[in-house]
Amino acid sequence: MLEADLINELQTQGARLADPTAGHESRRGGAGPSDHKAMTLGDQTVMVPVHTAPAFQSPYVIDAPQGATGEARILRDGVEVGRIRFPGRPRFYDLRTAEGIPYSQIAVLHGRDVLATTVLQTCIRYESRKKTCQFCAIGQSLAAGRTIAHKTPSQLAEVAKAAVELDGIKHMVLTTGTPKGQDRGAQVLADSARAIKAAVDLPLQAQCEPPEDDSWHQRLSESGVDALGMHLEAVTAEVRARIMPGKASVPLEKYFSSFEAAVRVFGRGQVSTYILAGLGDTAAEILAMSEKLVAMGVYPFVVPFVPISGTPLESHPAPTSDFMASILGPLSRMVIDGGMKASDIKAGCGKCGACSALSTYEKMRIA
Ligand code: SF4
Repeated sequence: MLEADLINELQTQGARLADPTAGHESRRGGAGPSDHKAMTLGDQTVMVPVHTAPAFQSPYVIDAPQGATGEARILRDGVEVGRIRFPGRPRFYDLRTAEGIPYSQIAVLHGRDVLATTVLQTCIRYESRKKTCQFCAIGQSLAAGRTIAHKTPSQLAEVAKAAVELDGIKHMVLTTGTPKGQDRGAQVLADSARAIKAAVDLPLQAQCEPPEDDSWHQRLSESGVDALGMHLEAVTAEVRARIMPGKASVPLEKYFSSFEAAVRVFGRGQVSTYILAGLGDTAAEILAMSEKLVAMGVYPFVVPFVPISGTPLESHPAPTSDFMASILGPLSRMVIDGGMKASDIKAGCGKCGACSALSTYEKMRIA
C-alpha cells in the first residue's frame, strides 16, 4: 500500500493501540480536531485518531514499540502493513513557570516539531450549545484543567524559547477562541507574536476568524506573524449553518475579501484555510471551493473530520478513506499546479500536515 493511502486510512479509520501508554500523552480536547496520537511514518508525522468511536472499531492495530529503535508494527487483520515511531515526550513538558504553571498547560507539542497554543481558551461561539461549532472541544480541556484560559504574551515567549532550545521546535501555531470585539482575536495574537519573536527566532502562524478591518493583516505581519489561517471548516451554506451556526453568521464573502487582503500582505501560499471533509459537503463542492481558493493564493488544508468525544458530533461518522482519496488526489495536483506546496509554507497547520494526508499526496506528485 502506498504511504499516502496508508496515512489516509489511518486518519479516517483510526487505530487501536496494543500499548495505550506508548508515546507521549495523546492530544485530547482543545480547539479544532483532537483525540489523536502523533505517529511518524517514514519522514512524515501524522495525527491518528485513537480515542474516538471509529478508532475502537478500526481494523488497524499498532503493536507495542520494540527494542532500541522504538519502532512499532502497524497490523491490519494481523498482517504487518507498515511501521511507525512515536515522537518522544518533549522535555519542555517537565518545566513550570515561576508561578507554578506547567509549560504543558500553556502550549503543547503537535506532530513532531510544532508548538501549538490556544491563546484564549474561551470563545463567543462556544457560549451556547446552539451556537457552538459542533465539532469543537475548546472548553473541554479548560474544564478538565489541562490548560489555562488566557496565556499571556510573556508566558508564551518563555515556553516557546524553552521548546526551541530543549526540543528543537521548528514552528508555532497560535490559535484562539474568538473574543468579543471587531478584531476577532487579532489583537491578542499580535501581542503574543511580538513577545515570542522578541524571545526566540521561531516562524509563527496565527489563526483567527477574519478581522472586521483588513488592516489587521498588516499589524499581524508587523508583530512577527509569518503565515495566517482563517478557517472555513465547511464550504456550503447548508453545512455551515448546521455545523457552526454561530460562525456561519460571518458570510463567505467576508472570508473571501479577507483572504484577498491577507494574501497581499503574507504572500501566495502563506494564507491558508482548514476544511473539514465528511460533514456533508460533497467532494465536488470541496474541490470547487479549493479551486477558487488556490486561484486566490490560499492553501486549502482539507482534513478528514474526526468525531471528538464529548462534542455534539461525537457520534457522527468519520469520512471513508475512499471519500478522502477522491478529494486529496485531485487537490494535491491543483495545489501544485497553483504553485503552492506544504513545504513552502513558513509555519502552521499546512506546513505541519499531520492532520491530513494532503502533503504526502503532494510529495508523491512531485517525486
Ligand atoms: S496540522 Fe495543525 S492541528 Fe494538526 S497537528 Fe499539525 S499543527 Fe496541530
